[in-house]
Amino acid sequence: MKSQEARNTFLEFFKEKSHKIVPSAPMVIKDDPTLMFTNAGMNQFKEFFLGNSVPKSKRATDTQKCLRVSGKHNDLEEVGKDTYHHTMFEMLGNWSFGDYFKKEAISWAWELLTEVYKIDKESLYVSVFEGSKDADNLGMDTEALELWKAIVPEDRIIYGNKKDNFWEMGDQGPCGPCSEIHVDIRSKEEKAKVSGASLVNQDHPQVVEIWNLVFMQYNRKADGSLESLPAKHVDTGMGFERLCMVLQGVKSNYDTDVFTPIIREIETITNSEYGKDEETDIAIRVIADHIRAVSFSIADGQLPSNTGAGYVIRRILRRAIRYGFTFLDTKEPFMYRLVQVLSRTMGQAFPELKEQHQLIENVVKEEEHSFLKTLDQGLVLLDSVLANAKGKLIDGRKAFELYDTYGFPIDLTSLILGERGFQLDEKGFEVAMQEQKSRSRSASEVSKEDWTILMNDPEQEFVGYDRLEANVKLVKYRKVTSKKEGEQYQLVFNMTPFYPEGGGQVGDKGYLETSNGNVIYILDTKKENNEILHFSKNLPDDVTEIFKAVVDQNQRQRTAANHTATHLLHQALREVLGSHVEQKGSAVHSKYLRFDFSHFAKVTSDELRDVEDFVNARIDGRIPLEEHRSVPMEEALKQGAMALFGEKYGDAVRTVRFGKSIELCGGTHVKNTADIWHFKIRSEGAVASGIRRIEAITSDAVKDFYFENNRTLHEIKDLLNNAPDPKKAVETLQEENNALKKQVEALLKDKAKNVKGDLLNELSEVNGIQFLTKKVDLDAASIKDLSFEMGANKTNLFLLFATEQDGKALLSCYISKELVASKKLNAGTIVRELGKFIQGGGGGQPFFATAGGKSPAGIPEALEKAKEYLQ
Ligand code: ATP
Ligand code: MG
Repeated sequence: MKSQEARNTFLEFFKEKSHKIVPSAPMVIKDDPTLMFTNAGMNQFKEFFLGNSVPKSKRATDTQKCLRVSGKHNDLEEVGKDTYHHTMFEMLGNWSFGDYFKKEAISWAWELLTEVYKIDKESLYVSVFEGSKDADNLGMDTEALELWKAIVPEDRIIYGNKKDNFWEMGDQGPCGPCSEIHVDIRSKEEKAKVSGASLVNQDHPQVVEIWNLVFMQYNRKADGSLESLPAKHVDTGMGFERLCMVLQGVKSNYDTDVFTPIIREIETITNSEYGKDEETDIAIRVIADHIRAVSFSIADGQLPSNTGAGYVIRRILRRAIRYGFTFLDTKEPFMYRLVQVLSRTMGQAFPELKEQHQLIENVVKEEEHSFLKTLDQGLVLLDSVLANAKGKLIDGRKAFELYDTYGFPIDLTSLILGERGFQLDEKGFEVAMQEQKSRSRSASEVSKEDWTILMNDPEQEFVGYDRLEANVKLVKYRKVTSKKEGEQYQLVFNMTPFYPEGGGQVGDKGYLETSNGNVIYILDTKKENNEILHFSKNLPDDVTEIFKAVVDQNQRQRTAANHTATHLLHQALREVLGSHVEQKGSAVHSKYLRFDFSHFAKVTSDELRDVEDFVNARIDGRIPLEEHRSVPMEEALKQGAMALFGEKYGDAVRTVRFGKSIELCGGTHVKNTADIWHFKIRSEGAVASGIRRIEAITSDAVKDFYFENNRTLHEIKDLLNNAPDPKKAVETLQEENNALKKQVEALLKDKAKNVKGDLLNELSEVNGIQFLTKKVDLDAASIKDLSFEMGANKTNLFLLFATEQDGKALLSCYISKELVASKKLNAGTIVRELGKFIQGGGGGQPFFATAGGKSPAGIPEALEKAKEYLQ
């Protein structure tokens, strides 16, 4: 069965059983501080399991894009080495939110696998939670056991421990026992020799888990104890690629039609062959896997970067590049060439790949380019580390520095060290790594107390679109402690005017007023699992009374002006630059706005002016806000509303319209564009290949900006002795400056000419080589010119000049090309070795190379040593 059919069969099977087919949530998570990437199908349903909201349908099914490269689930190091773990994979799932439980989940899973997919019953094993003797002291999951016994012979049932068969959402929250289904795809002969049951959960590549059925029946509290959940849920996850492996009768996920087209392409591009040699195979699997993870992330709007989720993506891509670099000898960008075949094979199920294909290609190519450059620089740095090494063991901290600061991969470092007869102090590296990890861990660690619940009211009303004040009651609160913020309270109200951070817009600030006039400041507002959390430093004395909740009006109004301006800017860019412009991210603060968008060239200053004019014309046009709170998604799209890929939308959406600008948006906006007052672009630049960023300001910030500019202009005028035309005066200064520069250059050239005559007289001769090693008082460019001029009519010249500038030393070596050939001399190697004496490094070409270093004191020794090369 082809993969496409396998996927559809799953969804259709559960649709028949009254499940609603829902789309995959984005793989990159934007609004959950506890998770960077979706790592299981259940993530997008967390709010239902926690009871924070009520789902439209009590049964759902989907295929979810997952990424397991960080946090609790991290399979990165396995990927490529084995044949059944991926970074990015699809998880097929069926869900019951307080509806059916173990009986249906178990019998449907069995029916689908054996009757629909027709997997041989004899090859399947199931596991059941055996109970635990620890603090939880849980009994065996006899309910599941009895259900399984009715279906499979007892020798196919495995009893699993807490690690394998008890699932928890996190330190706190819903949890429960699970039943896994494993499949044994070994040959008949192998099965006869060793029983499949003994290989379950033993990391055997052909006895693997394909499906996990989780039965949520408990809630884990902050003190570690368990309580029964009022509503029980089912959460299942089946690995799609593993399923395809079984259905296609192959022994590896990479031999299924999900991967073979990509692998064929890798073979062609890198001129390699899959299936001949283990090292090559691993590299090919790593690349085939990682291009998926990276492409899907970019399609979800997550570009590689230096922090957070972006950094994780960058590291995945770099891991693939260096496997190619080391084992497939790829020295040029090549991964971007795989995007096409990926979008062909998966574009139907995930249209975002097709639509963003060009952008993904550009971004990947650019990343490859810059990383290959980093690799080159890293090699030079590594050279200098080796040159300064005292013994054969290389300091692990140095290797860590290379890794941490320059992104130079540790396994590559250790490979190169091995090749050159050095060894890496692995312990030292590990220690440095651990130190950094615990530094960042303790900075991000948050401990949360249990909620104190005052009212049972799951639905909170958000009234912040209409009002900045409301009388509210506390539903629940808890204390959270983190290194960064210290102790804080999270408050949840039955109703709130506070906008929670989301859609690029910052969360509201403000205060609560108690009946006796006390004020509790609300420092920030965020959404987590569909709950609006208000952060404060303290609690009101009486938590049960009614409070007046008041949003900081100033901040809200400036933020709203910036948010509306962001929509107008989006519209303007599509108008001025073209409809290929798509929003790639935004940040709406009270002080400024930032807008990232796809566009493949610098935006010219004329275009920027047109964009500004366009937006300001709409501000002057006094266009009123037209808002629809609850429009069916399809209807909104039909009206031409702009939607973003990688955003999670519900069935009903809110549309925000200002004239012809219409967007799906949950943010807060001005009532009329005139409230923005004025729009001014402050900067335009590149964020990544094909992605531009504009930063802009509105309303009060524009006034401040003009005021500042005016002041600066006055100061400049003062400096120019109150010249009546400051522009003219600066131009005159520039002209004078240029003329002076030219004069200085000419004088320096003259000086060099004289020097050249003197130096030619100083040449000595050894073994038929004319040579000179000397410290001179010239800059680098003059030394280079001088060297080439001196060598112009010679075939046997060797020059080594040293100079000292700003406390730094520079060596410069010139060798006639004929000498390079006949005597096997190489200026690059020579300066690299002499660089040691000045505590630095360098390189260049065989006939001309330079080295820089921080120790001029070593110059005499370097000059002396240079002569040895002539012997
Ligand atoms: P394993 O022990 O094989 O790593 P798991 O216990 O981590 O699996 P679950 O978290 O239960 O797996 O996920 C549900 C299903 O998703 C698994 O049964 C498996 O088929 C699939 N799966 C899990 N991790 C991966 C991965 N890294 N790549 C591909 N499929 C995976
Ligand atoms: Mg796992």
